[in-house]
Amino acid sequence: MANSYWVEPDLNLVKELKALGGDTLKRCFQCATCSVVCPISPEEKPFPRKEMIAAQWGLRDKLVGNLDVWLCHQCNDCSAYCPRGARPGDVLNAVRAYSIKEYSWPSWAGTMVANPKRWWLLLGIPVAIFLVLLGAGGHLNIPDGEIEFAKFFPTLLVDAIFIPLTMWIMVAFGVGITRFLTDIHKNALADGRAKREDLNIPDFLRTFVCTLPTILRHSKFSECSTNKDRYLAHILVMYSFIGLFVVTNVFFVALYILDIPGPYSQLNPVKILANVSGIGLLVGVLLMISNRLKDREANVSKGGYFDWSLIILILGLVLTGGLSQLTRLAHVPGLAYPMYFVHLVFVFCLFAYLPFCKLAHLVYRTVAMTYSRYSEREPCE
Ligand code: SF4
Ligand code: SF4
Repeated sequence: MANSYWVEPDLNLVKELKALGGDTLKRCFQCATCSVVCPISPEEKPFPRKEMIAAQWGLRDKLVGNLDVWLCHQCNDCSAYCPRGARPGDVLNAVRAYSIKEYSWPSWAGTMVANPKRWWLLLGIPVAIFLVLLGAGGHLNIPDGEIEFAKFFPTLLVDAIFIPLTMWIMVAFGVGITRFLTDIHKNALADGRAKREDLNIPDFLRTFVCTLPTILRHSKFSECSTNKDRYLAHILVMYSFIGLFVVTNVFFVALYILDIPGPYSQLNPVKILANVSGIGLLVGVLLMISNRLKDREANVSKGGYFDWSLIILILGLVLTGGLSQLTRLAHVPGLAYPMYFVHLVFVFCLFAYLPFCKLAHLVYRTVAMTYSRYSEREPCE
Protein backbone atom coordinates (compact mmCIF):
# COMPACT_ATOMS: atom_id res chain seq x y z
CA MET A 1 0.00 0.00 0.00
CA ALA A 2 1.26 3.49 -0.82
CA ASN A 3 2.37 5.65 2.13
CA SER A 4 -0.44 7.84 3.40
CA TYR A 5 0.11 11.53 4.17
CA TRP A 6 -2.08 13.53 6.51
CA VAL A 7 -2.66 16.90 4.81
CA GLU A 8 -2.91 19.89 7.14
CA PRO A 9 -3.27 22.98 4.98
CA ASP A 10 -2.13 26.26 6.51
CA LEU A 11 -4.34 28.90 4.91
CA ASN A 12 -2.36 31.72 6.49
CA LEU A 13 0.75 30.42 4.75
CA VAL A 14 -1.00 30.70 1.36
CA LYS A 15 -2.04 34.26 2.19
CA GLU A 16 1.48 35.19 3.31
CA LEU A 17 3.10 33.69 0.22
CA LYS A 18 0.75 35.70 -1.95
CA ALA A 19 1.61 38.87 -0.03
CA LEU A 20 5.34 38.12 -0.38
CA GLY A 21 5.16 38.13 -4.20
CA GLY A 22 3.75 34.65 -4.89
CA ASP A 23 0.28 36.00 -5.74
CA THR A 24 0.04 33.82 -8.89
CA LEU A 25 0.52 30.48 -7.14
CA LYS A 26 -3.11 29.38 -7.56
CA ARG A 27 -2.82 29.60 -11.36
CA CYS A 28 -0.62 26.50 -11.49
CA PHE A 29 -2.32 23.46 -13.08
CA GLN A 30 0.67 21.20 -12.39
CA CYS A 31 1.81 20.53 -15.95
CA ALA A 32 5.46 20.22 -14.78
CA THR A 33 6.89 22.33 -17.63
CA CYS A 34 8.76 24.35 -15.01
CA SER A 35 10.57 21.30 -13.63
CA VAL A 36 11.52 20.24 -17.16
CA VAL A 37 12.97 23.60 -18.22
CA CYS A 38 14.73 24.46 -14.95
CA PRO A 39 18.44 24.19 -15.83
CA ILE A 40 19.54 23.20 -12.33
CA SER A 41 16.74 20.96 -11.18
CA PRO A 42 17.90 17.36 -10.53
CA GLU A 43 16.32 14.38 -12.29
CA GLU A 44 15.37 12.78 -9.00
CA LYS A 45 12.57 14.71 -7.25
CA PRO A 46 12.89 17.79 -9.47
CA PHE A 47 11.67 21.27 -8.53
CA PRO A 48 9.74 23.63 -8.67
CA ARG A 49 6.48 21.81 -9.56
CA LYS A 50 6.32 19.91 -6.27
CA GLU A 51 6.85 23.19 -4.39
CA MET A 52 4.03 24.81 -6.41
CA ILE A 53 1.69 22.02 -5.28
CA ALA A 54 2.83 22.42 -1.65
CA ALA A 55 2.33 26.19 -1.87
CA GLN A 56 -1.19 25.81 -3.30
CA TRP A 57 -2.12 23.42 -0.50
CA GLY A 58 -0.45 25.49 2.21
CA LEU A 59 1.83 22.60 3.22
CA ARG A 60 4.24 24.44 5.49
CA ASP A 61 6.37 21.40 6.35
CA LYS A 62 6.99 20.71 2.64
CA LEU A 63 8.28 24.26 2.07
CA VAL A 64 10.07 25.49 5.18
CA GLY A 65 13.25 23.46 5.56
CA ASN A 66 13.05 22.33 1.92
CA LEU A 67 16.57 22.29 0.46
CA ASP A 68 15.40 22.69 -3.14
CA VAL A 69 13.75 26.03 -2.43
CA TRP A 70 17.26 27.36 -1.74
CA LEU A 71 18.99 25.71 -4.67
CA CYS A 72 16.77 27.78 -7.00
CA HIS A 73 18.62 30.93 -8.14
CA GLN A 74 15.49 32.71 -9.34
CA CYS A 75 16.68 32.80 -12.92
CA ASN A 76 12.99 32.64 -13.97
CA ASP A 77 13.49 30.28 -16.92
CA CYS A 78 10.56 28.33 -15.45
CA SER A 79 8.35 31.43 -15.24
CA ALA A 80 9.10 32.33 -18.86
CA TYR A 81 7.87 28.92 -20.03
CA CYS A 82 4.97 28.45 -17.60
CA PRO A 83 1.80 28.20 -19.77
CA ARG A 84 -0.36 29.57 -16.94
CA GLY A 85 1.67 32.62 -15.93
CA ALA A 86 1.99 31.14 -12.43
CA ARG A 87 5.52 32.58 -12.05
CA PRO A 88 7.05 29.67 -10.10
CA GLY A 89 10.32 31.63 -9.77
CA ASP A 90 8.48 34.32 -7.79
CA VAL A 91 6.62 31.72 -5.72
CA LEU A 92 9.90 30.08 -4.67
CA ASN A 93 11.27 33.52 -3.88
CA ALA A 94 8.23 34.13 -1.65
CA VAL A 95 8.84 30.77 0.09
CA ARG A 96 12.44 31.83 0.80
CA ALA A 97 11.24 35.16 2.23
CA TYR A 98 8.73 33.29 4.41
CA SER A 99 11.41 30.83 5.55
CA ILE A 100 13.83 33.62 6.53
CA LYS A 101 11.04 35.08 8.66
CA GLU A 102 10.28 31.68 10.20
CA TYR A 103 13.93 31.03 11.13
CA SER A 104 14.49 34.54 12.47
CA TRP A 105 15.73 35.06 15.94
CA PRO A 106 14.33 37.06 17.64
CA SER A 107 11.12 36.30 15.76
CA TRP A 108 9.70 39.82 16.21
CA ALA A 109 12.65 41.20 14.21
CA GLY A 110 11.87 38.86 11.30
CA THR A 111 8.18 39.77 11.42
CA MET A 112 8.96 43.49 11.54
CA VAL A 113 11.41 43.43 8.61
CA ALA A 114 9.01 41.36 6.44
CA ASN A 115 6.09 43.73 7.03
CA PRO A 116 5.76 46.39 4.28
CA LYS A 117 3.76 48.57 6.68
CA ARG A 118 6.72 48.83 9.07
CA TRP A 119 9.36 50.33 6.74
CA TRP A 120 9.09 53.69 8.53
CA LEU A 121 9.87 51.99 11.84
CA LEU A 122 12.98 50.31 10.38
CA LEU A 123 14.33 53.71 9.34
CA GLY A 124 13.00 55.46 12.45
CA ILE A 125 14.90 53.21 14.89
CA PRO A 126 18.44 54.28 13.80
CA VAL A 127 17.35 57.91 13.36
CA ALA A 128 16.05 57.97 16.97
CA ILE A 129 19.16 56.19 18.36
CA PHE A 130 21.55 58.53 16.52
CA LEU A 131 19.67 61.69 17.51
CA VAL A 132 19.60 60.68 21.18
CA LEU A 133 23.31 59.75 21.25
CA LEU A 134 24.44 62.81 19.29
CA GLY A 135 22.23 65.06 21.43
CA ALA A 136 23.61 63.54 24.64
CA GLY A 137 27.18 64.17 23.42
CA GLY A 138 26.41 67.75 22.33
CA HIS A 139 27.05 66.94 18.65
CA LEU A 140 23.75 68.05 17.13
CA ASN A 141 25.27 70.93 15.21
CA ILE A 142 27.36 71.53 12.08
CA PRO A 143 31.01 71.71 13.20
CA ASP A 144 33.20 74.62 12.10
CA GLY A 145 36.38 74.37 10.02
CA GLU A 146 37.63 71.61 7.73
CA ILE A 147 35.01 68.91 7.16
CA GLU A 148 35.83 65.83 9.21
CA PHE A 149 32.95 63.46 9.82
CA ALA A 150 34.50 62.36 13.12
CA LYS A 151 33.96 65.91 14.47
CA PHE A 152 30.21 65.46 13.99
CA PHE A 153 29.81 61.71 14.60
CA PRO A 154 32.79 60.66 16.77
CA THR A 155 34.45 57.43 15.61
CA LEU A 156 34.15 55.97 19.10
CA LEU A 157 30.40 56.53 18.99
CA VAL A 158 30.18 54.89 15.55
CA ASP A 159 32.06 51.86 16.88
CA ALA A 160 30.03 51.78 20.10
CA ILE A 161 26.96 51.32 17.88
CA PHE A 162 28.32 49.08 15.14
CA ILE A 163 30.46 46.64 17.14
CA PRO A 164 27.53 45.42 19.31
CA LEU A 165 25.41 45.42 16.15
CA THR A 166 27.92 43.08 14.46
CA MET A 167 27.72 40.73 17.46
CA TRP A 168 23.91 40.80 17.30
CA ILE A 169 24.03 39.85 13.61
CA MET A 170 26.34 36.93 14.33
CA VAL A 171 24.12 35.58 17.11
CA ALA A 172 20.93 36.08 15.05
CA PHE A 173 22.46 34.31 12.05
CA GLY A 174 23.89 31.58 14.28
CA VAL A 175 20.45 30.74 15.72
CA GLY A 176 18.65 31.02 12.35
CA ILE A 177 21.17 28.89 10.48
CA THR A 178 21.27 26.21 13.20
CA ARG A 179 17.48 25.86 12.99
CA PHE A 180 17.61 25.81 9.18
CA LEU A 181 20.38 23.22 8.97
CA THR A 182 18.63 20.97 11.49
CA ASP A 183 15.42 21.16 9.45
CA ILE A 184 16.93 20.48 6.03
CA HIS A 185 18.85 17.52 7.44
CA LYS A 186 15.73 16.13 9.14
CA ASN A 187 13.66 16.55 5.95
CA ALA A 188 16.38 15.03 3.76
CA LEU A 189 16.48 12.00 6.08
CA ALA A 190 12.69 11.67 6.01
CA ASP A 191 12.69 11.91 2.18
CA GLY A 192 15.43 9.31 1.93
CA ARG A 193 17.61 11.83 0.07
CA ALA A 194 20.32 12.24 2.69
CA LYS A 195 23.16 9.86 1.94
CA ARG A 196 24.50 10.37 5.45
CA GLU A 197 22.69 9.84 8.74
CA ASP A 198 24.92 12.13 10.76
CA LEU A 199 25.39 15.87 10.62
CA ASN A 200 29.11 16.09 11.18
CA ILE A 201 30.08 19.76 11.46
CA PRO A 202 33.84 19.43 10.66
CA ASP A 203 32.90 17.44 7.50
CA PHE A 204 30.24 20.00 6.68
CA LEU A 205 32.82 22.80 6.93
CA ARG A 206 35.20 20.85 4.67
CA THR A 207 32.36 20.55 2.14
CA PHE A 208 31.87 24.30 2.37
CA VAL A 209 35.41 24.77 1.02
CA CYS A 210 34.59 22.75 -2.09
CA THR A 211 31.32 24.68 -2.54
CA LEU A 212 33.05 28.06 -2.39
CA PRO A 213 34.29 28.17 -6.04
CA THR A 214 30.69 27.65 -7.28
CA ILE A 215 29.52 30.53 -5.11
CA LEU A 216 32.39 32.87 -6.00
CA ARG A 217 31.98 32.21 -9.72
CA HIS A 218 28.17 32.25 -9.52
CA SER A 219 28.38 29.29 -11.92
CA LYS A 220 24.75 28.27 -11.38
CA PHE A 221 23.60 31.60 -12.86
CA SER A 222 25.41 30.91 -16.11
CA GLU A 223 23.18 27.86 -16.61
CA CYS A 224 20.14 30.14 -16.99
CA SER A 225 19.01 31.24 -20.43
CA THR A 226 16.14 33.71 -19.86
CA ASN A 227 17.82 35.99 -17.40
CA LYS A 228 21.54 35.93 -18.07
CA ASP A 229 21.80 39.69 -17.31
CA ARG A 230 21.29 38.94 -13.62
CA TYR A 231 24.71 37.26 -13.54
CA LEU A 232 26.64 40.50 -14.05
CA ALA A 233 24.50 42.45 -11.55
CA HIS A 234 24.93 39.79 -8.87
CA ILE A 235 28.67 39.43 -9.42
CA LEU A 236 29.13 43.22 -9.21
CA VAL A 237 27.10 43.53 -6.02
CA MET A 238 28.77 40.55 -4.35
CA TYR A 239 32.36 41.59 -5.09
CA SER A 240 31.64 45.24 -4.22
CA PHE A 241 30.36 44.16 -0.81
CA ILE A 242 33.48 42.01 -0.35
CA GLY A 243 35.61 45.05 -1.28
CA LEU A 244 33.77 47.27 1.22
CA PHE A 245 34.10 44.60 3.90
CA VAL A 246 37.89 44.53 3.35
CA VAL A 247 38.04 48.36 3.43
CA THR A 248 36.10 48.55 6.72
CA ASN A 249 38.41 46.04 8.38
CA VAL A 250 41.62 47.67 7.10
CA PHE A 251 40.47 51.09 8.34
CA PHE A 252 39.53 49.56 11.69
CA VAL A 253 43.07 48.15 12.05
CA ALA A 254 44.59 51.45 10.82
CA LEU A 255 42.67 53.42 13.43
CA TYR A 256 42.83 51.20 16.51
CA ILE A 257 46.05 49.25 16.04
CA LEU A 258 48.24 51.48 13.88
CA ASP A 259 46.78 54.70 15.29
CA ILE A 260 46.30 56.36 11.86
CA PRO A 261 43.06 58.39 11.98
CA GLY A 262 41.18 59.55 8.83
CA PRO A 263 40.26 61.24 6.60
CA TYR A 264 42.52 59.32 4.22
CA SER A 265 43.89 60.56 0.90
CA GLN A 266 41.91 59.71 -2.23
CA LEU A 267 45.14 58.16 -3.57
CA ASN A 268 45.42 55.75 -0.63
CA PRO A 269 45.07 52.21 -2.16
CA VAL A 270 42.42 51.24 0.40
CA LYS A 271 40.49 54.42 -0.38
CA ILE A 272 40.74 53.57 -4.10
CA LEU A 273 39.35 50.10 -3.32
CA ALA A 274 36.50 51.77 -1.37
CA ASN A 275 35.67 54.06 -4.31
CA VAL A 276 35.89 51.29 -6.90
CA SER A 277 33.66 49.07 -4.71
CA GLY A 278 31.18 51.94 -4.29
CA ILE A 279 31.00 52.46 -8.06
CA GLY A 280 30.67 48.68 -8.62
CA LEU A 281 27.82 48.57 -6.11
CA LEU A 282 26.03 51.46 -7.81
CA VAL A 283 26.36 49.91 -11.28
CA GLY A 284 25.31 46.49 -9.91
CA VAL A 285 22.20 47.79 -8.17
CA LEU A 286 21.18 49.92 -11.19
CA LEU A 287 21.50 46.80 -13.37
CA MET A 288 19.34 44.91 -10.87
CA ILE A 289 16.66 47.61 -11.08
CA SER A 290 16.78 47.59 -14.88
CA ASN A 291 16.56 43.76 -15.00
CA ARG A 292 13.66 43.69 -12.59
CA LEU A 293 11.76 46.33 -14.55
CA LYS A 294 12.31 44.34 -17.75
CA ASP A 295 11.07 41.17 -16.00
CA ARG A 296 8.01 43.02 -14.79
CA GLU A 297 7.23 44.26 -18.28
CA ALA A 298 7.60 40.76 -19.71
CA ASN A 299 5.46 39.40 -16.83
CA VAL A 300 8.25 36.94 -15.96
CA SER A 301 8.77 38.24 -12.44
CA LYS A 302 7.09 40.93 -10.43
CA GLY A 303 9.27 40.95 -7.33
CA GLY A 304 7.81 41.98 -4.00
CA TYR A 305 8.51 44.15 -1.00
CA PHE A 306 11.26 41.77 0.12
CA ASP A 307 13.23 42.34 -3.12
CA TRP A 308 12.53 46.03 -3.64
CA SER A 309 13.21 47.05 -0.02
CA LEU A 310 16.74 45.60 -0.28
CA ILE A 311 17.39 47.20 -3.67
CA ILE A 312 16.26 50.60 -2.35
CA LEU A 313 18.36 50.14 0.79
CA ILE A 314 21.53 49.39 -1.21
CA LEU A 315 20.81 52.26 -3.59
CA GLY A 316 20.32 54.64 -0.64
CA LEU A 317 23.50 53.38 0.97
CA VAL A 318 25.69 53.85 -2.07
CA LEU A 319 24.20 57.21 -3.13
CA THR A 320 24.47 58.78 0.33
CA GLY A 321 28.01 57.37 0.72
CA GLY A 322 29.09 58.91 -2.59
CA LEU A 323 27.33 62.22 -1.93
CA SER A 324 28.87 62.46 1.57
CA GLN A 325 32.30 62.22 -0.03
CA LEU A 326 31.55 64.61 -2.89
CA THR A 327 30.04 67.28 -0.64
CA ARG A 328 33.00 66.91 1.75
CA LEU A 329 35.49 67.36 -1.10
CA ALA A 330 33.45 70.33 -2.37
CA HIS A 331 33.59 71.84 1.17
CA VAL A 332 29.83 72.13 1.70
CA PRO A 333 29.43 71.32 5.42
CA GLY A 334 25.68 72.11 5.44
CA LEU A 335 25.17 69.18 3.04
CA ALA A 336 28.10 66.90 3.89
CA TYR A 337 27.26 66.33 7.58
CA PRO A 338 23.50 65.69 7.13
CA MET A 339 24.32 63.40 4.17
CA TYR A 340 26.75 61.47 6.36
CA PHE A 341 24.02 61.12 9.01
CA VAL A 342 21.61 59.66 6.44
CA HIS A 343 24.38 57.40 5.13
CA LEU A 344 24.93 55.98 8.63
CA VAL A 345 21.16 55.37 8.92
CA PHE A 346 21.34 53.20 5.76
CA VAL A 347 24.47 51.42 7.03
CA PHE A 348 22.68 50.68 10.31
CA CYS A 349 19.64 49.30 8.46
CA LEU A 350 21.78 47.06 6.27
CA PHE A 351 23.68 45.74 9.30
CA ALA A 352 20.87 45.39 11.82
CA TYR A 353 18.35 43.84 9.43
CA LEU A 354 20.82 41.65 7.52
CA PRO A 355 19.71 38.30 9.08
CA PHE A 356 16.04 39.10 8.35
CA CYS A 357 16.03 40.76 4.93
CA LYS A 358 16.51 39.40 1.41
CA LEU A 359 20.30 39.67 1.77
CA ALA A 360 20.16 36.82 4.32
CA HIS A 361 19.74 34.50 1.31
CA LEU A 362 23.52 34.81 0.85
CA VAL A 363 24.00 32.82 4.04
CA TYR A 364 20.98 30.50 3.77
CA ARG A 365 21.73 29.59 0.14
CA THR A 366 25.40 28.99 0.97
CA VAL A 367 24.35 26.56 3.70
CA ALA A 368 21.86 24.86 1.36
CA MET A 369 24.41 24.50 -1.46
CA THR A 370 26.94 23.11 1.00
CA TYR A 371 24.37 20.66 2.40
CA SER A 372 23.49 19.50 -1.11
CA ARG A 373 27.12 18.46 -1.60
CA TYR A 374 27.51 17.18 1.95
CA SER A 375 24.54 14.85 1.42
CA GLU A 376 26.12 13.80 -1.90
CA ARG A 377 23.17 15.06 -3.90
CA GLU A 378 25.58 17.13 -6.00
CA PRO A 379 29.27 16.48 -6.57
CA CYS A 380 31.95 18.79 -5.18
CA GLU A 381 33.92 20.75 -7.79
S1 SF4 B 1 4.04 26.48 -12.34
FE1 SF4 B 1 3.42 26.62 -14.47
S2 SF4 B 1 4.84 25.27 -15.54
FE2 SF4 B 1 4.97 24.74 -13.37
S3 SF4 B 1 3.52 23.09 -13.09
FE3 SF4 B 1 2.44 24.97 -12.63
S4 SF4 B 1 1.45 25.55 -14.52
FE4 SF4 B 1 3.02 24.05 -15.05
S1 SF4 C 1 13.71 30.26 -11.11
FE1 SF4 C 1 15.29 29.24 -12.33
S2 SF4 C 1 16.43 28.00 -10.86
FE2 SF4 C 1 14.49 28.57 -9.89
S3 SF4 C 1 13.14 26.89 -10.31
FE3 SF4 C 1 12.82 28.40 -11.90
S4 SF4 C 1 14.16 27.77 -13.58
FE4 SF4 C 1 14.84 26.70 -11.73
